[in-house]
Amino acid sequence: MSVVHVIGGGLAGSEAAWQAAQAGVEVVLHEMRPVQPTDAHHTDGLAELVCSNSFRSDDHEHNAVGLLHEEMRRSGSIIMRCADEHALPAGGALAVDRDGFSQAVTKAIESHPNIGIAREEVAGLPPADWENVIVATGPLTSSALATAIQELTGEDSLAFFDAIAPIIHSDSIDMDIVWAQSRYDKPGPAGTGADYLNCPMNEEQYNRFIDALLDAPLHQFKDWEKVPYFDGCLPIEVMAERGRETLRHGPMKPVGLTNPRDPETKPYAIVQLRQDNALGTLWNMVGFQTKMRYGVQTEIFRMIPGLESAQFARLGGLHRNTFLNSPKVLNADLTLKADPRLRFAGQVTGVEGYVESAAMGLIAGRFAAAKAKGETLETPPVTTAFGALIQHITGGHLEAEAYSGARSFQPMNVNFGLFPPVAITKPEGLKGRWRGPEKAKAKKKTITTRALKDLDAWLTRVGPA
Ligand code: FAD
Repeated sequence: MSVVHVIGGGLAGSEAAWQAAQAGVEVVLHEMRPVQPTDAHHTDGLAELVCSNSFRSDDHEHNAVGLLHEEMRRSGSIIMRCADEHALPAGGALAVDRDGFSQAVTKAIESHPNIGIAREEVAGLPPADWENVIVATGPLTSSALATAIQELTGEDSLAFFDAIAPIIHSDSIDMDIVWAQSRYDKPGPAGTGADYLNCPMNEEQYNRFIDALLDAPLHQFKDWEKVPYFDGCLPIEVMAERGRETLRHGPMKPVGLTNPRDPETKPYAIVQLRQDNALGTLWNMVGFQTKMRYGVQTEIFRMIPGLESAQFARLGGLHRNTFLNSPKVLNADLTLKADPRLRFAGQVTGVEGYVESAAMGLIAGRFAAAKAKGETLETPPVTTAFGALIQHITGGHLEAEAYSGARSFQPMNVNFGLFPPVAITKPEGLKGRWRGPEKAKAKKKTITTRALKDLDAWLTRVGPA
């Protein structure tokens, strides 16, 4: 049986090592701290939380990350066990005592009879005799390893920053205001000529929007987090600072588009939305990367006609982050197409967040354990939070990109837009259209009920822990 080498003892690496070890496989966990520090970690503990101490909502019926908590608990997660043991009062959220949590994970991993820990940097591609490797080195992967991965996968396959445009749930877009059309009706490589959703603005709306951008408070970054601006990907507020008309000549240009509801009036500016996943449940705001604070983003973007009630699957950002163009370079079992002995897990795969990173560690650990035993592991169903995340990082984007012809893969938290849609029935006696929070709640409950049922069936087939 081959040894599983896990590189990186963060959220994903610790969970991956635990899962493989629990399956009876020998594991070596290579963690470079404290020999080689990172810019964000402060301790030499495993699974250190570098910023907030929150695992976000613990509501597994109406919240996608709460669902992921529950799926991990049912799958024997060490991260969730230690988080539950060190939980602090935080309303409906799961917040933890960060030191107690990290120490508990470290102790569990150190005392596991199947796990050895090597405190060393893996400063390049792993040696040829490591046949079963999980790379879980996170958003701050050491530069020696990042360079080696980039050389192996190609220049455009590893990003060092994420410039994220906000992403919106399709069912919160007002389809009575927006319309579907590509500029000059051009079909993309796999498109129809009506591949974008267009939000029209008149002059007054545009000017109010620019004023709001110019007044918006910005997120304050630490020095090492600051990212250089590239002219092709400037934050919208920086474009607005360069001149009131800059956006109207850039991402908001109104050319090549006609509003079918008012063909005579030419919009003064247009915000375009591009399909972001194969399901068509998520749409990104084209060219709208921003460094504005989260709270203010929601307020300002809801000024855009058609987006008054927009629900955001993720807000915009511009951060330091090392991550793969996973849909291109990874197989569905998280192995690297260019070198399948390497399997990736955690934030480096293009998920975002402590819980999502740990969840991908859990799945990678199980895949690696199965390989060590000469078995194959069935991928979790796409209806589960595990499966929806795997689909996001290894599948959906290539199809979405085929429509638009643009690379759109960016890291993302788990959210309901990643799940296959569900049909829900209107309550008896309700007159008119069913909309609003009650409908949204019913939809979420249907998705989470389906997810946990399918997860339990998967666990019955593959083994609970
Ligand atoms: P990490 O937890 O970073 O673990 C990677 C490990 O690999 C580290 O221990 C590192 O020392 C080690 N390593 C790196 N290179 C090598 C190498 N070559 N050899 C050996 N070891 C190596 N998410 C949230 O949910 N909430 C937040 O508040 C939050 N804040 C964040 C703040 C910052 C500054 C950053 C960068 C990220 C933040 N994230 C946050 C995002 C993300 O969820 C966390 O970074 C999370 O820790 C990712 O888990 P991971 O296991 O993939 O990586």
